[in-house]
This record gives sequence, C-alpha cells and structure tokens, in this order.
Amino acid sequence: MHKPLIALVAALSASAASADTLINNINGIQATADGKLQHFKALVVGDDGKVRLVLEHPETVRLAGITSTVDGRGRTLLPGLIDGHGHVTDLGFYALRLNVTGSASLAELQQRLRDYAAAHPDVKWIQGGGWNQELWPEKRFPTAADLDAIVPDRPVVLERVDGHAIVANSAAMKAAGVTAATPAPRGGEIHDGVFVDNAEGLINRAIPAATPAEVDRALAKSQEILLGVGVTGVGSMSTSLADWQAFNRAGAAGTLQVRLMAYITAAQAAEANMKPTGWLYGDRLRAVGVKLFADGALGSRGAWLKNPYVDKPESRGLQFHSDAELLAQADHAAAAGFQIATHAIGDAANAQIISVYEQLSKRYGRDRRWRIEHFQIVDPADIPRLAPAGIIASMQPTHQTSDRLMAEARLGPNRLAGAYAWQTVLKTGATLAFGTDFPVESPNPFPGLSAGISRQDMKGQPPGGWIPSERLSLGEALHAYTRGAAYAGFAEDKIGSLEPGKYADFILVDRDVTAVDPISLGKTEVLETWIAGKKVWSMASGVPERGQ
Ligand SMILES: [Zn+2]
Repeated sequence: MHKPLIALVAALSASAASADTLINNINGIQATADGKLQHFKALVVGDDGKVRLVLEHPETVRLAGITSTVDGRGRTLLPGLIDGHGHVTDLGFYALRLNVTGSASLAELQQRLRDYAAAHPDVKWIQGGGWNQELWPEKRFPTAADLDAIVPDRPVVLERVDGHAIVANSAAMKAAGVTAATPAPRGGEIHDGVFVDNAEGLINRAIPAATPAEVDRALAKSQEILLGVGVTGVGSMSTSLADWQAFNRAGAAGTLQVRLMAYITAAQAAEANMKPTGWLYGDRLRAVGVKLFADGALGSRGAWLKNPYVDKPESRGLQFHSDAELLAQADHAAAAGFQIATHAIGDAANAQIISVYEQLSKRYGRDRRWRIEHFQIVDPADIPRLAPAGIIASMQPTHQTSDRLMAEARLGPNRLAGAYAWQTVLKTGATLAFGTDFPVESPNPFPGLSAGISRQDMKGQPPGGWIPSERLSLGEALHAYTRGAAYAGFAEDKIGSLEPGKYADFILVDRDVTAVDPISLGKTEVLETWIAGKKVWSMASGVPERGQ
C-alpha cells in the first residue's frame, strides 16, 4: 500500500465515528495481486469486521477513531487460507469415527472399541478403521466374535488400514441381512465377519445415512479442525443436500464460522431444482456451483488418458461421458446460473472438459470461471487453452508429493511434462487455486505451501524437487491459497487478501514464513484464527470461540 499518508489520515478521520480496532506490532505478510509478497505492520479493522487500512508504516500515521488496540506481539500475520477444494462434512465424519490406527494387538483394538462405545452411547452404527493384523503378535484377522465380545448390541464396522477389508460384528451382519450362507460376490471374500474387497458392499450398503444431528456434529468438528490449521474459507466440493441443510442450520444458529462456497453434487442440484444463492449469514455461505466428473482417479487407473497406462497397456482408464453428454450436463447447470467445477485427472479427460468449457465460454461469456478440479495429468499442448476460455486450474499441491511415484509408474518418465504443472499454468496466464481435497489429504495448508515452493514432501524428497521447473515462489503459492482460491469461488471482493473493504479474516502463526526453509514452512503452526475481525480459534483454548 503506497497511498499518500494524507489520504490515510483523511480516511481515518472520516471513520472516527465508528469503533475501529488497531491490530499493531505484527509481521504482516500477504500475496499481492501479481503474486509478490507484501509486508505490513498493522491493520485497522472496522466494527463491521472489514479491513479499513493496511499499514506498512503505522508510526507515521495519526490514528484517529481507534477505540481499541490489539498487540500482535511481533507475531506473523497472514490472511486466512482458503482451501479451494475440500469435503467439509467428510472431514468431520472421518475425525469422529473410531480410529484404531496403530493398535499393537487385538486386545488394544478391543479396548479402543470399548472406550469409544462408552463415550458415544448415541452412535447407532459404530464405524472406524485403521487396524492392521500384521502389527499384532497373533497376526490373525479379527473376527465378528472378537467385536461381539465388546459390543454385542450395536452394529460395528471397522475398516482395515488399506481399505481393502472390513470386519463387522454380528449385529452389523444381521442388520445387513448377511448370514453364514451368504455367498461372497465376485472379487470378494467373506470369513468370520471379515469382508474383503467386493464383499465390503454387503455390509456398507446397510449403513444408514447420517441423521441431521450427526451431520451437524460432523460440520462442527470439521470447522474446529479447519480453524485450527488456519483455513477460513473452503470450496465445499460435492456438497449434498443434507450437507447444504446442515450448513444452513449452522448459519442460522450463528455457528458457521468458516466461509463456504458450496458446489452441489450435480444430480442433487437437479433433483431439488436448486439455484445458486447469494451470500448468506454474514457472507458465510453461498451455493455457487455444481460438481461434475469427467473421469476417475490415477491410483485405481480410472483416470482417462490419451495413451495407454504404462503399467496396464490394455487400458486408457475410464471415460465417464461422451463429449455430447458432458456438454449437455455442463450446459444445463450453466443455464441455471451455476459455476461449474469438473473433476478431471487424466490428459484425455482434461482435454475433453476444456473443449466443453471453450464452447460454454462462447455461449455464456468468459467470466463464468469454469473450474477444473485436480488438473493433474495434462497434455502440455492443452494448458495454453485455459486462459482464453477463463478456465481455472483448481489443484492440490500435496497430491503431487503423495502421487509422484505412482504417476511415474502409471505414465512412465516421458509423459510427465504437464503433470501437476503449477508454474506452467501461471505462465500461460490462467488462474491457479490451491487446496487439499481433504480428507483425502490433511486439510493443513502449510505442507501444501511447502510443496508449492519446493516440489518436495515433508521429508525433503526427492532432493532438488520433482520436476523443479514447476516450483512456485512463496508469493505465487500464497496467492493460489488465498486470492486464487477466493477468485475461483467468486469471493475475491470479500476474502483472499487483507485490503480495505474486505473481511479481516486472518491468522497468527508461530514463525515468519518468509524466513524459513520449505520443511519448516510446512511445519508452521497456527496460534490464532480470526474471522471478520473476531478471534474464533486459538491454540491456547483449542476450541472454537464464538465469534458472532
Ligand atoms: Zn474431492
């Protein structure tokens, strides 16, 4: 901010009637519109929760109209981070499940189950996971009887650590209508309450949908986790109607803190004849778009590729829709006024959705901000097609560090030039939005910022970074995680940067992110999270503070 000082004084005098808060003695850092770093020392926040001034040299300004002051004690302050793509209630459900990861014996699994059952008497189906019999002295699979001995009266289903088997107790099998005589489906096995691979569905299909109260609890838990890692806004992907109703209940009750830009599951939006909404509940919630899918995932070789998989030469993956079908789906949603966010992982799927968006841009104009979710494996020739059609690349930097070895195995070394190509996306003039796809990855944005600047995981692998030409500067990575993600959600007029007129959504962290190495950056801890100028979470209390 290099406005003349006289203008600052005038602005403050004009606001003297209202109650402004000065947040001073801070090491403020944010991304500028062009992806550089801006440093500032103080913020003035109005009683409407919006930033009035960002001050690089507060000592030179005559501060009139200030009614309270917060001493930042020299700590580093960043804008609240915005996760462009996350699954909000799933994060809460996952955290509320019984976690038996690391159990050293069957007895320990049973003890954790006993404790969980006692602590959650109202949970009708106990679900959880993380067991690995290879870690146990007995090395045998758990059985229904092992679970019945602890919980005989409620269904219990616990997933193996790899997701490829579940163990169910007798109550769960009874509820699912499974008996000793039930044959295992093709590609599955059943023994003593253990259901392997395709047999898992026999039990899982019987698990009742979450009740509204359970969705509310998941949302509350999710917000607690998100605020604790400095996330103040989320592109809420694949939002179900049940999710949407829970978001609205929280909004009406004043407990919705994290700002949600909701992308409704396309089928449910159509079924309920939903339309986009404006901002609701003090700009906490908005139905902005729908979510479509063009292909599957790389891990299961479901990503749709232009050429065969190197490690499965008979397959190019899964094409979900014909060109005409995908265009019709997208056109239907666009005609209803929705933004469109389409999952595309493989290079064929990305080329297909780009073609669809190019046609829609001609019909509806460029500023519909068509989104591609993941944009992982892309033909380098297709990347320059984004900017002219106003297409946003919504990417997850920790997918790159998690998936790089798998990507090499699936594609070989010669087809990675457009893989997780963040810097190339920026160079072609397209907008890059970052996120995590939580709970697929941790919602913590800092390992993502670290990967963004290093192309290395939190162990520093691989040395020098994976395809290091795609590294970003810290300013560019921070931009993607704040301004870029806000723009991708049509929210850049409210959030994504600390500027006059935008919300004072910010975090205080435990280190100067501009002065540390990538691994230390990834380990940054959030001390306080503020939304609309109110502290809503602090490490000291560990729980959300009512900010409204
Ligand atoms: Zn997702």
